[in-house]
Amino acid sequence: MSIYQKFGVRKVINGSGKMTILGASAVQPEIAEALGAAAMDYVVMEELMVAAGQKIAIATGTEDGCPTAGAAPGIAIAVAAVIAGTDLSKIERLPNSDGLKNEIILQKGHVVNFGAPVAQMITLGGGRVIEAGQANHVEACHIKEAITEKTAALFYVKSHHAVQKGMQSIETMAAIAKKYNLPFIIDAAAEGDLKKYAAAGADIVIYSGGKALGGPTSGFICGRANFMKACRKQYKGIGRAMKVGKEGIIGLLTALKLYECQVDDSKLQIERMTWLINQFDKTSGIKGEIVQDEAGRAIYRANLTINPEITSKDAYQIIKELEEGNPAIYTRNYYANLGIISIDPRPLLKRQEEVIAMRIKEIIKEK
Ligand SMILES: *Cc1c(COP(=O)(O)O)cnc(C)c1O
Repeated sequence: MSIYQKFGVRKVINGSGKMTILGASAVQPEIAEALGAAAMDYVVMEELMVAAGQKIAIATGTEDGCPTAGAAPGIAIAVAAVIAGTDLSKIERLPNSDGLKNEIILQKGHVVNFGAPVAQMITLGGGRVIEAGQANHVEACHIKEAITEKTAALFYVKSHHAVQKGMQSIETMAAIAKKYNLPFIIDAAAEGDLKKYAAAGADIVIYSGGKALGGPTSGFICGRANFMKACRKQYKGIGRAMKVGKEGIIGLLTALKLYECQVDDSKLQIERMTWLINQFDKTSGIKGEIVQDEAGRAIYRANLTINPEITSKDAYQIIKELEEGNPAIYTRNYYANLGIISIDPRPLLKRQEEVIAMRIKEIIKEK
């Protein structure tokens, strides 16, 4: 029985990916042990924060870091840090930033929702969101023209949620920030490359601990030492409303450690997903195919194309019944409009592909 069932909620089989709505990541045993050990003991929190900053610095190739409760709090804290610095009086009055340099410039196509609005997290940190250009078209001059004596930072969202075409590159944003002597912040919440964005010229980079890293609910900020010191100090201000616990920090650091020696499990993914698609023969109305991740990452998913004339249920109906069952089964549904149900092998626990195959067979049998 899963721990969640003990508390009266359904067991979930996650074939969709690292989804916040399903609790992001299920951590490896080593991380779970670290979380437990950290929770059962005491530490001087400030010492832990500083030590964590050093570990984060090494993992990211930056000067220093700051652990957070997630990437969303990371946005608010990073913005607060560029506005208030280490000045306690300013830190204590945020998010009221009247009279301070508080304007945060984003390209309009980056003002997105990742589950909550990026702009709202910036506002929580005392920032005033300034949108440059149009939703599908931003020129470098739009960004330069948005800069005033109140500008606190340039902000870039590296994400599939952001508009991909018609935006200015990280390199261009970094060059403008440098020219105008402004801090450049990148939200790289779900990215797997921990070094790339600081190397590309960002002064501050924000990551989620629970996404690509596979850690517990947590996150971190990394970058230039003066900003990281300021980020940690925001825990005396707005950061207190979004604080990360000692167990979250230790879980994050353990995840970082494991991430460095991560092995490529492509072969196992392909094996499991091949087994899954082989469960559906020609007459079933389900045609399976192994497809590599659109962004070229080492993820090999099973795409099941539903022929509703044979199955009598279309992809949407099957998805609905999978989610409503017990255990609840969640699949990746970005192409459901094309009749495709995708299964992501990464979050599946041992032999759960068997439960998925069995349940889909059941659903298409019940007319
Ligand atoms: C997921 C995400 C966040 C929030 O990350 P959490 O760790 O869940 O707080 C912020 N920005 C982007 C672009 C995201 O994808």
